[in-house]
Amino acid sequence: MTILEVKNLNLGFQCEDIFRPALFGISFSLEQGKMLSIVGESGCGKTMSAMSILQLIPKTAKITSGEIFYNGEDLLKKSQKEMQHIRGSKIALIPQDPMTSLNPLYTVGDQLLEIIKIHQGLSGDEAIKKAIEAFDMVQIPAAKSRLKNYPHEFSGGMKQRAIIAMALACNAEILIADEPTTALDVTIQAQIMHLLQDIKTNKKTSILLITHDLALVSENADNIAVMYAGRIVETAPNEEFFANPTHPYSKALLKSLPSNKGTKLETIKGQPPTLSQQIDGCKFNPRCDYCMNICKKEIPNTINITPTHQCACFLNGN
Ligand code: SF4
Repeated sequence: MTILEVKNLNLGFQCEDIFRPALFGISFSLEQGKMLSIVGESGCGKTMSAMSILQLIPKTAKITSGEIFYNGEDLLKKSQKEMQHIRGSKIALIPQDPMTSLNPLYTVGDQLLEIIKIHQGLSGDEAIKKAIEAFDMVQIPAAKSRLKNYPHEFSGGMKQRAIIAMALACNAEILIADEPTTALDVTIQAQIMHLLQDIKTNKKTSILLITHDLALVSENADNIAVMYAGRIVETAPNEEFFANPTHPYSKALLKSLPSNKGTKLETIKGQPPTLSQQIDGCKFNPRCDYCMNICKKEIPNTINITPTHQCACFLNGN
């Protein structure tokens, strides 16, 4: 069952006198109890796509068209008040830096209890019991005493667990995890991803994972959407994507992935375009080894490689 569907989302930034488009017809859907990963280099628009869902875009950004259906209702038609409720209780954000979500002036327990009070209407011993359950669920040891700690007394991994506990405490149906492990070391990264997998399987929570890390994606995501310069250029289920990556950008990303097969590690030449950079045709053309004349003039449509695998590139019979 589809729980979230983004349809033809277009967004741009007002930069002084000029409006600069940044997202072009973004469409994807997230199934209940599944993990969809949006993957791409920094600045490709993946975080902005995710923040559009929560309506947490910068003041200079404007969604010019599109629809974002959550349980059949268009989030873009909701008031700020309605969105506040949805953000707190239905769709939760797990940020790259958990300190941006934890208030350093209050104990982690106070912050968790406040959420439980607002979203579950509980207080006193009942609320504390729920808070301990939430900490247990995310495997924070000595939960009762840990509730009394301030954020600075938690390690990076522990803070991220606390944020996930808060999302679980308000029974969020969707977690938007924006580079949730980038600030953590490899062992803790694996533990957090394992925790997210557990939540997905056991609580049927849907997860939108935003990352630049294809290794993380290959091990965790059910479905993949590759973004480049504000467009989704390839989508496929995990196995299909890694068995048959089709877009030249996806192939280049994969070649830059460390593997244990002894293959030479390659980097993608050049840089992704900035917002102000004008590139005609396919925006990947200056970096693409397969670039043809048409690529510099026209933008390729998205076509079906299989019923579940889509790609936007002239090499695929556009
Ligand atoms: Fe490369 Fe052309 Fe395909 Fe763009 S459309 S990825 S430039 S081959």
